[in-house]
Amino acid sequence: MVIHPDCVFCQIISGEAEASIVYQDDQVTAFMDIRPLFTGHILIVPNDHFVGLTDLDDAYGKQMFTVARRLAKAMLHSSLDCEGVNLFLAEGPAAGQTVFHSHLHVIPRHSADGFSIQHPAGYGERPSREILDDIAHQIRQSLTSE
Ligand code: 5GP
Ligand code: ZN
Repeated sequence: MVIHPDCVFCQIISGEAEASIVYQDDQVTAFMDIRPLFTGHILIVPNDHFVGLTDLDDAYGKQMFTVARRLAKAMLHSSLDCEGVNLFLAEGPAAGQTVFHSHLHVIPRHSADGFSIQHPAGYGERPSREILDDIAHQIRQSLTSE
């Protein structure tokens, strides 16, 4: 296991730091977020220290998603006031990442919870097919097998 002594999520995984664990296996650990957006907010982390999504080993990513799906189901069937679930992952500071050990947020939602994504100015306009095709081409050119 790759543990970084200065990383708070590594400390949680190793048991050195306190956390309310919901689920743990040999690849991932899920625990309650210390500052929940809503009651029931969970973080799922790989048990090895990967900084972000782009350096995450696929096997860990797969298990993170599998566990997210199971936990979302559990939230919906639990006594929590949960009508829906958002998954959120921040890759890099520009996207809002503040803890640099990759993690997937599992956030319980309710139709009246008052949370929404603030859209940027100009949102809603539909680019032409030509522009969408061109952007798809640009991204495709940078695609690698890993
Ligand atoms: P990010 O902004 O990087 O996507 O999310 C980091 C999340 O980690 C935040 O929601 C924050 O509340 C949570 N967090 C930060 N430090 C700790 C901690 O020591 N324990 C727990 N359980 N959650 C933490
Ligand atoms: Zn770590």
